[in-house]
Amino acid sequence: MKTKDPSAVKTVGFVSLGCPKNLVDTEVMMGLLAREGWQVTPDAADADVVVVNTCSFIQPAQQESVDTILEMAELKKTGRAQRIVVAGCMVERFRGDIQKEMPEVDALVGTNELERIVAACNGQSQSPLPILPQNFFDPSLTAPYLYDDLTPRLRATPRHSAYIKIAEGCDHPCTFCVIPQYRGKFRSRRFASVAAEAERLGREGARELVLIGQDTTCYGDDLGLKNGLAALLTRLAAVAEQSETLRWIRTLYFYPNRVTQPLLDAIAAHPSLCGYVDMPLQHASAQVLKRMKRGAGGDIFLKLLDRIRRTIPGVALRTSFIVGFPGETDADFKELCDFVTAVEFDWLGVFAYSDEAINQAVHLDGKLDQEVIDDRRSRLMALQQSISRRRRERAVGCRFDILVEGLSEETDLLWEGRLESQAPEIDGKVLINDVAAGVNPIAGTFAQVEITEAHDYDLIGRLVG
Ligand code: SF4
Repeated sequence: MKTKDPSAVKTVGFVSLGCPKNLVDTEVMMGLLAREGWQVTPDAADADVVVVNTCSFIQPAQQESVDTILEMAELKKTGRAQRIVVAGCMVERFRGDIQKEMPEVDALVGTNELERIVAACNGQSQSPLPILPQNFFDPSLTAPYLYDDLTPRLRATPRHSAYIKIAEGCDHPCTFCVIPQYRGKFRSRRFASVAAEAERLGREGARELVLIGQDTTCYGDDLGLKNGLAALLTRLAAVAEQSETLRWIRTLYFYPNRVTQPLLDAIAAHPSLCGYVDMPLQHASAQVLKRMKRGAGGDIFLKLLDRIRRTIPGVALRTSFIVGFPGETDADFKELCDFVTAVEFDWLGVFAYSDEAINQAVHLDGKLDQEVIDDRRSRLMALQQSISRRRRERAVGCRFDILVEGLSEETDLLWEGRLESQAPEIDGKVLINDVAAGVNPIAGTFAQVEITEAHDYDLIGRLVG
């Protein structure tokens, strides 16, 4: 291992796993380190310190986190890495285990301890004693952390698109979910702080802002605001109208029984608020939803979705479901498939239920065999694939505003971009294979596209203006 000139600028590399909320935490940690003179390098092999920001939502995510930590730890032997720092949800869940079983790890930074990242990288961290029981580290014991507009943040997303975390934590009791145990109680960012950050990101060239949280529809409840999200979106629409760059404000993670008419009216009233509703429903069977401690059912959701479509014409709908939940019968699964057929979502994610030692559902009866769970997942995905194709075909021959993102990741022969109905990372995109005379595609700008072809999830288009 090469010794380093102590006066040289220290470099840090990040691997960010999991959801966009974790990515914002990574960006905050990078910002805090850069403010202290650290250089953030995109190549972990080139870093003095490597930080792995972990995910621990379900078992496969935990395995990916462990594999990544071990892979990065190899750089201590082969690269110039001197320290491995582990952050994120895995720390909140397995802090004691990581210390006992992963000697490669030099420091831990929990989700409420982002500001400790500089000390952890410098080797000043006072890692708690490994003998202490894990639940000693219950997140509610440490002051719940939530960054604000004055927190330094180094963005990892393209300049033209930025996430804003408007809230953290969650108070819902979903029996399959462990997030509240890592991320703590629900807490909103200050109204003015979100607006100030939106203005700054606009000045930095963002064209699209994506608002995130565990449940964005609870925004403002803890600030005493009624219809807080509707009020915040109306304020951000005004920011976009004043901005030379901002055009799209997209909100993810709606909780179904928190979707109010004022919220839908606000989205419908402002062109800058994307006609896009992401609302994880998790299931359609009232019996299963009751065991998930989420309530409602397919009939109630159908009425809600109809109200959303009537209030926001042309709205794009995204949702996600869990299949194989304990006690899910053939009839429940059929009800879910019939519901998906009836609604025709634009985008749909399907998760296979897995027992997590610390979620409530682990104690439920009626556990299903893995083959049954996997079979139901692939059947629901196949059903949605044909629905998705049909919905994509409706766009053929139509013209839309497109946010040109740049050369396609698949080939330099194509450019790619997204429509208002396509969120970053999780939805399909538009592959641009033709450009009209006099039109120059520029990454990070809006243009006009004519859709010429439809695939199951992606579209093919020609830039016409
Ligand atoms: S709403 Fe439910 S699923 Fe979502 S983070 Fe909260 S507890 Fe988990």
